[in-house]
Amino acid sequence: MTETPDGRVDIVPRGASHFEVRCFENHQDTPYRSWCLPLTAAQTIARWWLSRSLPLEEVPTGGDGRLEMEAEPAGSVSLMEVEGKANILARYQETPIADWLRYHNLGEGRHTYDSPKMLIVTCMDYRIQLRVPKNFAYVLRLAGANVRYREFDLACALAFAGVRHVCVVGHTGCAMESLIDKREDFASGLERAGGWNRTRAELEFNLSASRLNLSSVLDFTQFESGWLERRFPGILVAPLIYDVKGGALHQIVSQR
Ligand SMILES: [Zn+2]
Repeated sequence: MTETPDGRVDIVPRGASHFEVRCFENHQDTPYRSWCLPLTAAQTIARWWLSRSLPLEEVPTGGDGRLEMEAEPAGSVSLMEVEGKANILARYQETPIADWLRYHNLGEGRHTYDSPKMLIVTCMDYRIQLRVPKNFAYVLRLAGANVRYREFDLACALAFAGVRHVCVVGHTGCAMESLIDKREDFASGLERAGGWNRTRAELEFNLSASRLNLSSVLDFTQFESGWLERRFPGILVAPLIYDVKGGALHQIVSQR
């Protein structure tokens, strides 16, 4: 365990050749972020923690390029429906997040705006149909609503439009959940539809699947939202879940 004045990092062995780094923001055992990395990365990680100068994108990978990053369970989480203004969490009240929840779920509010008020990050899944007022929001669609390595896209919306509110929208039935188990389907599918040979398809999967794999959409969406708020302290981030069956948005509530 290594401690600094405002946090600590735990190094936990994972088998013979990997270790897990658990970064905690404070001393109250609140999960912050963790990585499972080859042992060869240990020194670099330790230097990063002490200097806090190495951007996330530069976290080292092993020789084969694999980097496994999984969200820690952020305590018990549940979903809260939005059936009226009173159901919207207090931290979202009187913000564009509340405006959008009411518009999408209840059909209430303005249909058009003069300037963008927020950024929505959601999955690329074809079943997601967001109801968004005209000129209201930037929409960033990425597999699994996963902004890792795509933070600059998000930063542009903040920097150029002054957006201070973000909704991270995971969804039910996301294909990125347990992606790591779908190697065969990916390789055969890309061979068939994309015209790649099997070896190249498998290599692509090996390189990217661990980055996008989600063990739990609910936990990941909650975790990613908290992480973005730490990454960009000036913004408010709402973790939401879109139900692909009914089309409603639900708020993720954490009971810590
Ligand atoms: Zn998805």
